[in-house]
Amino acid sequence: MIKGYQQSVIRIYENIQEEEKRALKKRRSEIEKRDPRILDIENKIGKLCVELAISSMKDIDNRDEYINNLKSSITDLRVRKSEMLVTLGYSLNYLNLNYRCTKCKDTGFIGASKCTCYKQKLIQLHYKDSQLQELTRTNNFKSFDFTLYPIHKIGNEKDTPRKNIEKIYNRSLAYIDNFKSHSDNLLFYGNSGTGKTFLSTCIARELLDKGYLVVYKTSDELIKDLRDLKFNTNKFLEDLIFNCDLLVIDDLGSELITDFTRAELFNLLNKRLLTKRKMIISTNLTLEHLLQQYSERITSRLLGNFDINKFYCEDIRVSKNLNKIT
Ligand SMILES: [Zn+2]
Repeated sequence: MIKGYQQSVIRIYENIQEEEKRALKKRRSEIEKRDPRILDIENKIGKLCVELAISSMKDIDNRDEYINNLKSSITDLRVRKSEMLVTLGYSLNYLNLNYRCTKCKDTGFIGASKCTCYKQKLIQLHYKDSQLQELTRTNNFKSFDFTLYPIHKIGNEKDTPRKNIEKIYNRSLAYIDNFKSHSDNLLFYGNSGTGKTFLSTCIARELLDKGYLVVYKTSDELIKDLRDLKFNTNKFLEDLIFNCDLLVIDDLGSELITDFTRAELFNLLNKRLLTKRKMIISTNLTLEHLLQQYSERITSRLLGNFDINKFYCEDIRVSKNLNKIT
């Protein structure tokens, strides 16, 4: 779980509570104008409830009778209040505080455990921060266009580009379906414009919608973050990159590759693999280039711990633009 977001989530709940209190205040002043007797009744109910609470601690003769009388007075007043509200055309609960989540009463917690609405808020918050929001606006499985991939064979590839992408597409769906139970990683490689980023953001979006914490970074941004972490303490960022449910690293190889970046990248890959935290990496590099650019210990982890998927076809971005023109 991403610790740095917890404060923000707590603030969201505080804001909800404040908003609902303000809304109730507004409803009360509205009722005060229409029929102030309703608020008088409400005050009486409040006083009687306090008395009821105190009386259980006090020494009173005929306590049971006294308490029963108090209870029936409260009930009568509540009925009276409801009748008056309904007569004016309001709902019975018009003067009650409204809860957006009735399970936790907008606190995020049920006892010591987190309510389901807590994780939803955490995800929304992260989604908002993530670049994914922009990318996934257009990139999702439904908008995936298979017709961009030709049905004739190219080069020495065994499958046609269409057949190949269908296989990868289905593998991606299976990856999402079993996400909780597997610890698989995906490597997407192939020329630029063949749909790698598109498909990895589709997966990210689906998993975010299912409630997982997904972080998307281009490898350039990732290296900048890792450099930041090396020299500055940033627990939040560290937690985000090392512990999120899925880390998507886009365009590996586009960063400036130095001994420093190799060491930091290895450290990240290794830690995530050891803790079975999943990754999707896409790269325009061929496997041969990957081997040349990165150290053996990085490539052995990439080739040994990732399902390798090769993307190929004519450049989709080119053919998309051509379609627009014609
Ligand atoms: Zn809740």
